[in-house]
Amino acid sequence: MSEHHHTTVAGVAVDTRHWIGGERVASTETFTDISPIDGSTLGKISRGTAMEAAAAVAAAKAAFPGWAATPRAERARILHAIADGVEKRLEELAVVETHDNGALLRSHRRGVMPRVAHNFRFFADRLLTLDHEDFTTRGHTNRVTWDPAGPCVLITPWNAPLMLATWKVAPALAAGNTVILKPAEWSPLTASLLADIAAGAGLPAGVLNVVQGLGPEIGDALTAHPDVRRISFTGSVPTARHIAASAAANLTPLSLELGGKSPLLVFADADLDLAVDLAVEQYDNAGQVCLAATRILVEESIAAEFTRRFTDKAARLRQGDPRDEATDIGPNIHPRQLEKIDGFVRRALADGARAVVGGHRGEGQYYAPTLLTDVRQDSEIVQEEVFGPVLTLQTFTDEDEAVRLANDTRFGLAATVATGDPARAERITARLVAGTVWVNCFFVRDLRAPFGGSRHSGVGREGDTWSFDFYCDLKNTVTAPKGWQDHG
Ligand code: NAD
Repeated sequence: MSEHHHTTVAGVAVDTRHWIGGERVASTETFTDISPIDGSTLGKISRGTAMEAAAAVAAAKAAFPGWAATPRAERARILHAIADGVEKRLEELAVVETHDNGALLRSHRRGVMPRVAHNFRFFADRLLTLDHEDFTTRGHTNRVTWDPAGPCVLITPWNAPLMLATWKVAPALAAGNTVILKPAEWSPLTASLLADIAAGAGLPAGVLNVVQGLGPEIGDALTAHPDVRRISFTGSVPTARHIAASAAANLTPLSLELGGKSPLLVFADADLDLAVDLAVEQYDNAGQVCLAATRILVEESIAAEFTRRFTDKAARLRQGDPRDEATDIGPNIHPRQLEKIDGFVRRALADGARAVVGGHRGEGQYYAPTLLTDVRQDSEIVQEEVFGPVLTLQTFTDEDEAVRLANDTRFGLAATVATGDPARAERITARLVAGTVWVNCFFVRDLRAPFGGSRHSGVGREGDTWSFDFYCDLKNTVTAPKGWQDHG
């Protein structure tokens, strides 16, 4: 078997070609997928072009009428069968994902991959109860329905590849749409395994297509395609701008889940140990989490004690091989990302910031967990997303200042508040600009909640019915009462 068609990662065979119309399709060119764990080559992946993009859209278009007409119960059954397939191959998916993006194997096993299966089950079940009560207008019945929209292009990043992809794939398929999934080129492997699992679950050919490739090379052919009815994108702001411009040609509706620079507000009345735990948690996934509260804002009266406890706790974090169950922080995804992180930190230090923790690269593909103080609100390190294990610490003296600092970036994805006073929590959360706000907790998530960002953190919300609203054409059918014509 050609090395251009398959690879084996930790004993798991992965097809490195596209999946289009129920068949494996190879490109003549490939790109190299490397592991952040040790820089080893994981595989040569088909490097898609406009030709493969067009073929995938054509396959999705051809499969659409059949899938859209498939009864809801049957669509839901197949989605549950995909979830079964994910659960059956959970260990393989976890291992491959860890080799591909360097995130912790224990998180993949216990949190991420079970959530992948849940994504399918949740939207399968939700589909069956999706309904809007009929109502009447001068005796005429209004009936609201969610009609499938057509082929959807789903473009996803590398920091939680299969979880973020299936968060889109599941509702798009449940809604009766067909899909072209384009995973990130730094973590392309589990999307290919998903194609196998979906085919094994009986999903008809062409309903889910996976195209591999470099974003700027294959992107426009997907996002500017006139037969594409929805684009859902998770990634960075600059790419989102490009995609929005490309989609403008056909006014294709977009859902954008973008970056963040979220705050963690710690008030003097907070449980300090809890607040420190919440702050240190922001190093999870080596800081490559869109929701991460990377700006720690602490009430001045407790800042010294908070910093002391934070430093102690951060020093106990174990950085190392993500396959090791004892590891807390794994590598960063790619040498280019490491360079980017280091550039942010070096410029901040040159600008007067002080590294209380870290402030430099680690060995190999690792960056030392870092906490910077003495940072200005208008500085790059406070305003721009680093997407690495780099936090800043600033102080405030009252609620007004805390809220002003918290809201003073162009982002609005999430915010976390640590306080022992429920009335204060209510006052503060009402004033924060963020799609998700956590009080005395972090990363508690539920598919029944709307998810998305304000300002440059995104456009639209996904989750529960919000996903169906986006992936469907909503229709209102108004029917006259029997005999209405006779009576005028
Ligand atoms: P990115 O924007 O560089 O790439 C994301 C995807 O877009 C990749 O699949 C890439 O190939 C593709 N792409 C690149 N150029 C393209 C083009 N011209 N046309 C079409 N597609 C193109 O982002 P990234 O570095 O992979 O991911 C990190 C970013 O994602 C961070 O900003 C992070 O905050 C954000 N993110 C957001 C969420 C969320 O839910 N809000 C979740 C995870 C990550």
